[in-house]
Amino acid sequence: MASAWQLWRLQETDTAITQIEARIEELDSGQELEDIREELDQEKAGIENEIVEKKLKLKQEELKLGGMEDHLNSLKEKVFKGDTANPKELMAMQKELEIATAQKSAQEENVLMLMEAADGLELKKRELDKKFKDIDKILAGRNEEYKKEKKKLEDEVLIVKDRREKMASAIEPHVLKRYEDIRNKSNGIAVAKVIKGNCGGCFMTIPVPLLNRVKDRHMEFCSSCGRILFPDTEIPPVAAAEAAQSKDKA
Ligand SMILES: [Zn+2]
Repeated sequence: MASAWQLWRLQETDTAITQIEARIEELDSGQELEDIREELDQEKAGIENEIVEKKLKLKQEELKLGGMEDHLNSLKEKVFKGDTANPKELMAMQKELEIATAQKSAQEENVLMLMEAADGLELKKRELDKKFKDIDKILAGRNEEYKKEKKKLEDEVLIVKDRREKMASAIEPHVLKRYEDIRNKSNGIAVAKVIKGNCGGCFMTIPVPLLNRVKDRHMEFCSSCGRILFPDTEIPPVAAAEAAQSKDKA
């Protein structure tokens, strides 16, 4: 029959496995940076769309400006040719010229503003590209580091799992099953140390007769929480030998 000591050691090994697995889970894979990159990517796509729109608009407005210039030039030609001597007509033409000139300079202003806006967007895009470069550099490093750390822990957990298997194979299947069952329903703690006459799992006082049987290394269970009780005395000689042996093996 397996001893409480064997189960205690098995539990310590199981706990070690859980802890290493939790550390693997907690490793920084660079997900936060990936998320930031994703957001920047969307921002960049938005800016690129805006640039396309602005450039299209700019082209339209430049065409309009070209038309205005042509119109203005033909007006000027008419005025300077001096075909008309009629002062009323001349005044009307003069007025038309003034209006066309004002319209043209307003349109020039409009085109200039569009150009500036497009330039601003291009600048923004370039800044984003620089950010991408920086992030990608960090991510590449992070990824390398993550893979290294993960591999190290995975190797470590394999070794501990291998040790666990050897330990478990030395325990009778029905005892092992009971251990697993208790562990599953008792927060991963199937074996509780007896602390000053109390169960280390649920802290209930253990009746003296039961306590004595535990001290005599019988496999006993807490009548309150059902956990396997492990005596908190010095390590039993057999177990000490076992421990030394496993240390030698390791
Ligand atoms: Zn208990």
